[in-house]
Amino acid sequence: MNTYNKETTCDLMIIGTGMAGMAAALFAARQGIDTVQVGLIGEIGFASGLIDLLGVHPVAQGKVLDDPWQGITRLCRDEPLHPYALLDIASIRESLDIVLAFLLKSGYPHFTLPQRNMEVLTPAGTLKPTYAVPHTMCRGPSALADRSSCLLVDFDGLKGYSARQIALSLADRWPELHSVRIGFPDAKGELYTEHMARTLDVADSREKLVAAIRPHIGTAEVVGLPAVLGMYRTVRVMEDLQQGLGVPVFEIPTMLPAVTGLRLREIFEQRLPAMGIHPFFQQRVIGAQRLANGRWRFDVGRADIDFRITARSAIMCSGRFFGKGLHADRHGIRETIFDLPVVQPKDRAAWHHKDLLHLEGHPINRAGVAVDGQFHPVDSNGQMLYPNLFAAGSILAHQDWKRQKCGSGLAIATAYGAVQACARMLA
Ligand SMILES: Cc1cc2nc3c(=O)[nH]c(=O)nc-3n(C[C@H](O)[C@H](O)[C@H](O)COP(=O)(O)OP(=O)(O)OC[C@H]3O[C@@H](n4cnc5c(N)ncnc54)[C@H](O)[C@@H]3O)c2cc1C
Repeated sequence: MNTYNKETTCDLMIIGTGMAGMAAALFAARQGIDTVQVGLIGEIGFASGLIDLLGVHPVAQGKVLDDPWQGITRLCRDEPLHPYALLDIASIRESLDIVLAFLLKSGYPHFTLPQRNMEVLTPAGTLKPTYAVPHTMCRGPSALADRSSCLLVDFDGLKGYSARQIALSLADRWPELHSVRIGFPDAKGELYTEHMARTLDVADSREKLVAAIRPHIGTAEVVGLPAVLGMYRTVRVMEDLQQGLGVPVFEIPTMLPAVTGLRLREIFEQRLPAMGIHPFFQQRVIGAQRLANGRWRFDVGRADIDFRITARSAIMCSGRFFGKGLHADRHGIRETIFDLPVVQPKDRAAWHHKDLLHLEGHPINRAGVAVDGQFHPVDSNGQMLYPNLFAAGSILAHQDWKRQKCGSGLAIATAYGAVQACARMLA
């Protein structure tokens, strides 16, 4: 690739810096593909930081899955158009293994159970099935399974998180759950989770936190805290707290923006450039044009065009309405960068069911860009549109990641499929 100047060339342009874009960049870097990545890195891009693979199927029955792999096999049989059905199980496993190995190497290990989802606590005091949890959370599911005596701690000034509320919500399932509210070391007034996490990266603050919790431990065998246990040094923070308190400690996700999501964001943001990805973070693709030689030319900038990037291929990981990859207005749903056809209900009246809480979910949630087996966007007849354009992540049609609880898993697996297909094309 040329050095940074107004005109840049590359083999692969990845559009998007959500989970799909970051995973695609990781896979591309491992293959040594000359890659530029463009996208806005938002505060809640990685949300809770949990990696869901498949938590619910069939959604109409609200069936919560113990075994996500068996669930995927059944999902692909029941919904052959679902993006998971474009991949075999071995590829889906491989994609997740690569991302989890990357996180481990980055000092932020995640845990999975063989063939099983875990149940994690939410800040609402409910339980949610997920596939992989950060090491900071892994004692929570086992403490719940064992009904261990547990102390939940929260802090004066931390809004949207109540240890007492969580304990009350779970009282039937987990009688030995107690709560206490204490002051956070050296803090007054409203607390912000990101600031708390950065504070606990400092050893002195950890000692003060241990001293504040210790008098309340009583017979607790385990202590649960909001997810603020360090930003960069989580392994060290966990070790120090557990040693100081003499019992295992675990985190519970907080409301957004969650530190658990920010940790993922920072890891990708810092490590991908070191792996050879050329980042244009906090920039947008403003225009895309296909040149006579088949290459793509992208106009990139914040408001005005700052760079022109010519790419042999592109993977769009531009998300849905929230990510701004799709736009809905009274004329219909549009794909915002290439103006690709979007699979969508016939008219606006059919976007939503009358019942807001309809178990099947609203048809608009399954709108998106349809792709072929090589992750090329296709037209309404299923014909590939461009041999050097691929799509991955939540922009894909025929899935409802929120209800199916497959957000990050689907983003990672389809990014893997798209990069593999793109690498074959570039070769
Ligand atoms: C509130 C919330 C909670 C979630 N909780 C979980 C959870 O608990 N577990 C789980 O597994 N998943 C969860 N997810 C989903 C998970 O984050 C998904 O993997 C994700 O939303 C889909 O990722 P994506 O990369 O396809 O899209 P997005 O995350 O939406 O990313 C789209 C990207 O495209 C970029 N983009 C769009 N248009 C342009 C343009 N013109 N130029 C450049 N860049 C552009 C955006 O800036 C953004 O970076 C949650 C998501 C949200 C929003």
